[in-house]
Amino acid sequence: MMRAARLFGPADLRVVDAPVPRPGKGQVLVRVIAYSPYGTDVGTYLNRHGRYVSSYPVGIGADFSGVVESCGAEVTSVNPGDRVTALALDHCGDCANCVSGRTNLCLDPEFAAPPRQICCEEFVLVSARKLAALPDEVTFEDGAMLAGIVDALNAYEQMELSAGDCVAVIGVGAMGLSAIAAGRALGIEVVALGGTGKRVEIARQLGAVAFGISAHGEDLAALVLKDGPGASPAIIETTATDWGIAQAFAIAAPGGIVALTGGGQLPLTSWDVVNRELRIVGVRCGHHQNQALDLIACGKIDLKGTVTRRYPLEEVADAFALLAGEGARDVGRVIIQIGDA
Ligand SMILES: [Zn+2]
Repeated sequence: MMRAARLFGPADLRVVDAPVPRPGKGQVLVRVIAYSPYGTDVGTYLNRHGRYVSSYPVGIGADFSGVVESCGAEVTSVNPGDRVTALALDHCGDCANCVSGRTNLCLDPEFAAPPRQICCEEFVLVSARKLAALPDEVTFEDGAMLAGIVDALNAYEQMELSAGDCVAVIGVGAMGLSAIAAGRALGIEVVALGGTGKRVEIARQLGAVAFGISAHGEDLAALVLKDGPGASPAIIETTATDWGIAQAFAIAAPGGIVALTGGGQLPLTSWDVVNRELRIVGVRCGHHQNQALDLIACGKIDLKGTVTRRYPLEEVADAFALLAGEGARDVGRVIIQIGDA
């Protein structure tokens, strides 16, 4: 048996005994070392708008690192003892998009719906195709904070941003901080927008010019357009909230490009897009796992300073109570320490 976090209802997270899963064909059993929650996990924890969970109990977590415990049949890419991290999405490996490297846009219908990876437990099953070995320079905690970097690198590639360009990052949560770090690593000038607490300071430490807000829901447009850097040619929206998406389009310059990472109804009409010649790109995770690991290994991305709290697995409910409450405004990344390295 193993210890595993399970949600029994919204905000009802417990650590229980569960059987250790066995790897099937193409699967790897990973002993989890570190897990770092981000916004989607908090959405799952609260089951916001009933969108994330249809039945309980259910596991939680997505961004993690660990050590390969055992491999199922036909797994040749990793071996027991390897230090690994995992992409968010699985893929077929054979279709035109996979062959061209865009594995996050796999054309195989089997991988069209995002399968829910869970990781907040001592042992987790992972498709071997999702795994990458951690370079020696990349710690387990680094390897558990990869998803936001992968998303941001995908966004910057699609927006064709490079050194000397400017981007506005909406939101300074886990995803926003990762987008700042990834942008700075590429030499992009970053303006970070949002946040009501110490997260704004962390954004500045990562190299962004950061503009906090005084209260949730405050309109950024006046701040940015009148007192700040002005309308933005490129924006990455990291909050996946109605507020964040509205801000992104409000501050977009004519001809600007907006990268979206999630959310609901767009707050503009097709005519608005036409009249301002806006471009909109979707960011469906990313395939930039190796680029992210290289940037961490060479020291260009370092999120260690963003970690403000660590909890053992048995106290994961306390971590989520913090992340789902008002106190989250002063919290950077949280690490759940699940196993010993
Ligand atoms: Zn494919």
